[in-house]
Amino acid sequence: MYLKNYNLDELKSWCVEQGVEQYRAAQILNAVYTNNLGDFTQIETLPKAFREKLIKTFEMFSIKISKVRKSVDGSVKFLFELHDGKHIEAVYMPWYDDDFDTMERITLCISSMAGCPVECAFCATGTLGLLRNLDSAEIIDQILLVQKELGCEITNIVFMGMGEPLLNYKNVVKSLEIMTAEWGLNLSRRKITLSTVGITNRIKQLHKEIRPVKLALSLHATTDETRGKIIPLAKNLKLSELLSAVEEYYRETKMPVTYEYIPFLGFNDTPADARRLAKILKRVPSRVNIIPFNDISFAMPSGFGKELKPTPKNLILEFGDIIRQNGGRVTIRDTFGQDIEAACGQLALS
Ligand code: SF4
Repeated sequence: MYLKNYNLDELKSWCVEQGVEQYRAAQILNAVYTNNLGDFTQIETLPKAFREKLIKTFEMFSIKISKVRKSVDGSVKFLFELHDGKHIEAVYMPWYDDDFDTMERITLCISSMAGCPVECAFCATGTLGLLRNLDSAEIIDQILLVQKELGCEITNIVFMGMGEPLLNYKNVVKSLEIMTAEWGLNLSRRKITLSTVGITNRIKQLHKEIRPVKLALSLHATTDETRGKIIPLAKNLKLSELLSAVEEYYRETKMPVTYEYIPFLGFNDTPADARRLAKILKRVPSRVNIIPFNDISFAMPSGFGKELKPTPKNLILEFGDIIRQNGGRVTIRDTFGQDIEAACGQLALS
């Protein structure tokens, strides 16, 4: 059993079942999340017999580090092995101020699934299909193991690794509880971003949870027809309904929304696309992150994926300018880790 699948109330109940005082649960979670202790023998505030009970009952970590690749740009890609031999990835990304003097934040991009059932045409992970959902311990341990390995404190989390988080809803919501609770990692929910291709009914549900987080929508196209070509699931998700759900999310949470957009040459990067995108951006306080396409030919994509070509940098800049001229806010992202198999799923596939 993995301890990090338990929240405070569940662990209190377990303690009572063992004939131990409830307050021991808070001591255990404090040792795990605040002190990031690596094994139960180190929790000296607990009686020895109870520590032995914990060792017999729970495993401290649900995943282990299998590979670490460090990039010249400071990012670090981690490959983790799950208990059943499957693999997932996480990427550590340090962000500096303009002078490169001060590190402003450390973001960890984490996975919510091994593989992914959505099978987007531009994504290496999608070529794996769904291997399985991660439980909340496997999601949380990505953060704790990276902190331990690099001796750092992660300040921001993005669910942008392998998997569609809203299709693993229950476990992802529980992991959000652990990330944001005072007894857990105690991160601000404004420092956590959940990136989704847009599972409309789940977006409508997420803002009703106790701790909704920032939402990023992988838009990548501005019409149902083009979106359906690169995100097969989008054929059943009308863009108009999805954008209404995003508006509702903003109304209820007051947190600005991020859109993600990968331009593909001659497919979704025309001036008309830029103008439609600007119109979408103006519906709620938001910005679009334009992300250059990472080549995924190593994954031997089939169907439409084979035809997708990256839009060159100069055309990306022009595309961004048209969005700005039409009132949209734009960030053009540098991709991290070009020298360390940067594409999502690339390390797990290799
Ligand atoms: S982009 Fe995200 S949702 Fe699409 S296949 Fe890849 S991991 Fe899944």
